[in-house]
Amino acid sequence: MPIPGCMAMISSRDAHDGHDGAFSILDRLPVGVCVVAASGIIHHANPVLHELLGCEAGGLPGRSLCEFGLDSCDGGGLVADPAPAHRVLRNDGSARWVTVAVTPWPMPRSGVEAGHEMDGLRLVTVTDVDSLYRQVHADQGAVRDGSVQDGALCGEMPADQMQMVDALLEASPVPLFVKDVAGQYIAVNRAFSRLTGIAREEILRRTTLALTTPERAKEHIDHDRALLERDGSVQYETPICTAEGAMRLVNLTKAAFRDGSGKPAGIVGAIHELRDSRPSQERLEAILEQSPIGVSVSRRDDGRIIFVNTRFAELIGLPREKLIGSRARDYYLDSHQRLRVLEQLRGGSGVTNMEVQFKRADGSPFWTLFTVNQAVIQGTAVNLAWIYDYTERRSMEEALRDMASRDPLTGIYNRRSFMEMARAQLARAHRFHEPLSVFVLDVDHFKRINDTFGHATGDDALRMVAAGCQAILREYDILGRLGGEEFVVVLPGATADESRVVAERVRRHLARMPIEAPDGTFRLTASIGIAGLEGATDTLERAIHRADLALYRAKHMGRNRVAVFEPGM
Ligand code: GH3
Ligand code: MG
Ligand code: MG
Repeated sequence: MPIPGCMAMISSRDAHDGHDGAFSILDRLPVGVCVVAASGIIHHANPVLHELLGCEAGGLPGRSLCEFGLDSCDGGGLVADPAPAHRVLRNDGSARWVTVAVTPWPMPRSGVEAGHEMDGLRLVTVTDVDSLYRQVHADQGAVRDGSVQDGALCGEMPADQMQMVDALLEASPVPLFVKDVAGQYIAVNRAFSRLTGIAREEILRRTTLALTTPERAKEHIDHDRALLERDGSVQYETPICTAEGAMRLVNLTKAAFRDGSGKPAGIVGAIHELRDSRPSQERLEAILEQSPIGVSVSRRDDGRIIFVNTRFAELIGLPREKLIGSRARDYYLDSHQRLRVLEQLRGGSGVTNMEVQFKRADGSPFWTLFTVNQAVIQGTAVNLAWIYDYTERRSMEEALRDMASRDPLTGIYNRRSFMEMARAQLARAHRFHEPLSVFVLDVDHFKRINDTFGHATGDDALRMVAAGCQAILREYDILGRLGGEEFVVVLPGATADESRVVAERVRRHLARMPIEAPDGTFRLTASIGIAGLEGATDTLERAIHRADLALYRAKHMGRNRVAVFEPGM
């Protein structure tokens, strides 16, 4: 019954005396009762509680509930409703089972006189259930010797409950594990073994060090240690190695658990897969679909294609249904290129950006940059091929290469590429002891043409000369522009005398060729000097030099003529 007037007088000392009227009302109750502050310090306790906790009268005020094993020093952790049995440690060290109920102390605060310690007072009711509890648990076989002191009674789980926990663990689709305080695994479920590929027997009694790198293990151990010290749970991301040997980022949730005596006993943990870290098959296929690169997957044992993306089907020019099940080998254009690819794959290395030609369904070829990696997908050894259509780039490159080798004005070979090709012909002539000759052609009085008709018409004239030469020369003769109005020809297989015939034809042709100028047409002439190959050590430069000397002679003799080199020129 509240006695408001008395509340104001309560101080710790008064409460400790146990003589305060407000509390004396509790003294006659048949259950243990005390009033505690938020700090857990007992202000007043009735005689039954003193007896229950084995203290002499007046011995409890000023002491803390947690000295008796009632877990919560702040009083706040005590449950508000009668809870399952708690184990209290009596003053003499023996233990008893009690139930505990906590309610706020019902007295209203009384104005300014209320002391600080009056805030958050609670009424704690402690009921002795020791004999009842022991009887029930003895029936269940959980109490072995009746002595509460020598065991963690709560930690001893009845056998049927143990089975239930085991069944729960096994039935869970979530990978779960349990570790003891030393960090040794004491239980893992089937989902754990499925995810990690580690069998239960392999992991039990071993620590996280057996599973991962020392650095990673330290991270786990630090988390576990912190948990065992402060309870609660922790969640963090960590990479793990899966049964397939892949590293996968997962979410670990861990919590500490305690034994019956309240001591930390270990860690339970669950592994959650991160939803977005592993794209679903559909998402992977959607990504491949948008790839501008053709992708195909073929089985390594029989070479049959088991997956293609749309781009691949486009490149080959066949619908997917036709491609699936067909053989990758059918799409190579060149069997040598295919063998080169196979050789590299057999050597264990993949193929990266190799230039390989494939053929479309209509037989037309296309160039690709071809990359192949070997992989195992769902237990099947496959070749994963990436095909980048290179045709356009390649033809562009060819055009560029071609442009670099041609004279921009006339379109015939420039000096550099002429020399390259002529040198190859010379080497061939030496090797097969075949004749070869060179002639050098120079337009006569070209300066006058420029001066008379203008530079543009001069250019036209040069183009006409190149085309005129080309028209007369044989297919395998090589024509180049040495510079200015000077041209050069190499004639494989022709002696100097045979070349003279060709050169004469060229000279005549040019001399007859009308060239357009702004005010009518005009004609031009050219002089030609010829030199044949001399001996097995002759060089192109020397042959051209001799042809030049012959040309000089032709000019000297009056132009519009052909001269063959003779010693002494
Ligand atoms: P010769 O009969 O002795 O060979 O006399 P030529 O006038 O032909 O010889 P020369 O070497 O004195 O003059 C060559 C001229 O060719 C000089 C130069 O301006 C002209 N020329 C050189 N390259 C080009 C060109 O690309 N276009 C034009 N229109 N003229 C060029
Ligand atoms: Mg000239
Ligand atoms: Mg000249």
